[in-house]
Amino acid sequence: MSIANNLNTIHQSINQTALACDRAPSSIKLIAVSKRHSIASIKEAMAAGQYYFGENYIQEAAEKRHSIDDAAKFHFIGHVQSNKAKLAAELFSMVETVDRLKLAKALNKHLLTLDRKLDILIQVNIGEDPKKSGVPPENAGALLKHIRTLSQIRPMGLMTIPPFSSDTEKTRIYFRDLSNLGKELAKQELFSDNSRFELSMGMSQDFKTAIEEGATIIRIGTAIFGDRPEIA
Ligand SMILES: *Cc1c(COP(=O)(O)O)cnc(C)c1O
Repeated sequence: MSIANNLNTIHQSINQTALACDRAPSSIKLIAVSKRHSIASIKEAMAAGQYYFGENYIQEAAEKRHSIDDAAKFHFIGHVQSNKAKLAAELFSMVETVDRLKLAKALNKHLLTLDRKLDILIQVNIGEDPKKSGVPPENAGALLKHIRTLSQIRPMGLMTIPPFSSDTEKTRIYFRDLSNLGKELAKQELFSDNSRFELSMGMSQDFKTAIEEGATIIRIGTAIFGDRPEIA
């Protein structure tokens, strides 16, 4: 299957799933996760109308960014080391993985120098898995209160990577927890737009379940680009 065919299949699936649960398909943004995939693959996706990409490694994203038309928008979805905050502040239209105040402050400092504002999501460790990054759910509100004092950062919503399960009904509970947490934080007016906050959840295996539970951003790699090449 070509990348264009895969994108087409996923869009059909997004439309069907959204309509079946009374949601507007246009309220769901597809991020094509291009980590470890080539610039040629990204260009192939762009030729098929896909303009949002997700990358996990800052250095890899920096190299790609400079070879790809500005019409492409990159979301950062990996772990940001604070010493890479400068590149992160420059390169991305959204950083989905802010999980600590130190990182938010480092981003803000570089954004001030760049005279740029940045949309971010708070990464929540919704399964409270000690091996995963993300702020514990009970600390998300406190982190947002601090972040709201930073002039260049716009907190748009929440992102999560739930504990892996091959049973999407188990994963559904985590998606629902993230959605409920988002509603609670919006009620406290902690996002930039509390009437429409983002929920980034769902990957190749479970994006339909995520849409049913309210995802506004889904991050899909394998189902678009195929298996990821091994790191050389
Ligand atoms: C790699 C990755 C994805 C995409 O996963 P697939 O299973 O290939 O769709 C989504 N989100 C994050 C954070 C990732 O690291």
